[in-house]
Amino acid sequence: MPAPCGILIVGAGLAGLTVAETLRGEGYAGPITLIGDEAHAPYHRPPLSKGFLQGETPEAQLTMRPAELLAKRNIALRVGAGITAIDRTARQVCLDDGPTLTYDGLALCTGARLRPLPLTGADLPGVFGLRSLDDSKAIKAALETAQDVVIIGGGFIGLEVAAAARRKGKRVTVLEAAERLMARVVPPAMSGFYRDLHAEHGVHIVLAAAVTGLVGKQGRIAAVRTGDGREFAADLVLVGIGVIANAELAQAAGLEVAGGIVVDACGRTVDPAIVAAGDCTVRRLADGSLRRLESVQNAMEQARSAAAALLGRERPFTATPWFWSDQYDVKLQMAGLTAGFDQAVRRGDPASRKFSYCYFKAGKLIAIDSLNQSNDHLTGRKLLDQGISPTPAQAADSGFELSTLLAARA
Ligand SMILES: Cc1cc2nc3c(=O)[nH]c(=O)nc-3n(C[C@H](O)[C@H](O)[C@H](O)COP(=O)(O)OP(=O)(O)OC[C@H]3O[C@@H](n4cnc5c(N)ncnc54)[C@H](O)[C@@H]3O)c2cc1C
Repeated sequence: MPAPCGILIVGAGLAGLTVAETLRGEGYAGPITLIGDEAHAPYHRPPLSKGFLQGETPEAQLTMRPAELLAKRNIALRVGAGITAIDRTARQVCLDDGPTLTYDGLALCTGARLRPLPLTGADLPGVFGLRSLDDSKAIKAALETAQDVVIIGGGFIGLEVAAAARRKGKRVTVLEAAERLMARVVPPAMSGFYRDLHAEHGVHIVLAAAVTGLVGKQGRIAAVRTGDGREFAADLVLVGIGVIANAELAQAAGLEVAGGIVVDACGRTVDPAIVAAGDCTVRRLADGSLRRLESVQNAMEQARSAAAALLGRERPFTATPWFWSDQYDVKLQMAGLTAGFDQAVRRGDPASRKFSYCYFKAGKLIAIDSLNQSNDHLTGRKLLDQGISPTPAQAADSGFELSTLLAARA
């Protein structure tokens, strides 16, 4: 009989670590085992396309917790080990190197993997994706000698890498299939701001670009071809076309999966012994629709709720979603979700590089995007969390202190 593991966590990323630490914080005294298939202890991913790539953040600063701290909290960490199957009836999981572990409670925090580019040549040396520390190290090394960098995909990661490559003096082209940058996550005005920002820094942005081929020469990437017959010289290509939730393990075990492991606001799956959190999930909302988020906040908050749920405690994650991105000297901070907005007002002057866009639906604030305006972001988050809305006229008036609305309610 395999030894019982108490609570077993699959995936040693941010969500997995947060489940483990929350369990201890909530007073759970049983065994906790955190299992990850990467060779590293849990590390921060956001710097991989920002400070680490630019050489400003040392590798040691990426580690989330020193091993001694995990040991002190009695959290067993097993790296370089993948879980290949779940037997829900026996409450057991299989490890890729053979043994079986039993669990009382199971947390699936398996994250996401890169969406592959389905084109010949996508595996040529010099073509990269960016998800892991090892990916970022490889890109960083290749950037030392590369001259022509082509980025396929004008989303957050692609644009952050574009900024890092420009800082290193490389010629950079971004090929984006849509008519505008970051189209999935920001409204048109923001896309336009970022197109101008990158153009000012010398990035060649090509919109509506259908990549049709990756051209090799002497066994290495040499160019990227688009549908209109153009070729863009490249000695380094970054493919940043999104991720796919790692949900196959859950699916094979009969859990509900729809573009991610389906969970409720508490991170619960249909199996009372199994929760899930982070990039591997989609959340079913009260109206039955599904919401997928890929962010640090989502991974942490969902993991906290999921850990509580494993202990039978109801702690739904209801906070306003937020996210950030750093490109050049511009910090974008987003709070709320813009989907369905019918009015956008600007607060501040884009020429000053310090401004926000506030988005309204039927006169109610639903989201705020702030550039180098942390105060607007933090106040906006509180307003959204508390369901307080400025009028569009108040939001557009940068002399009007949004925080007075919070004070008025208190
Ligand atoms: C380059 C980059 C920059 C980012 N920048 C930002 C940012 O600026 N702001 C922001 O909010 N978010 C950012 N994100 C997103 C954020 O990092 C993720 O949302 C967050 O890391 C998700 O955490 P997670 O624990 O759910 O998943 P992950 O961090 O992906 O961890 C999951 C882990 O589980 C492992 N695993 C998978 N399957 C198995 C298995 N069967 N057995 C064992 N282990 C398994 C995976 O290998 C991985 O190590 C960025 C992400 C990247 C890649």
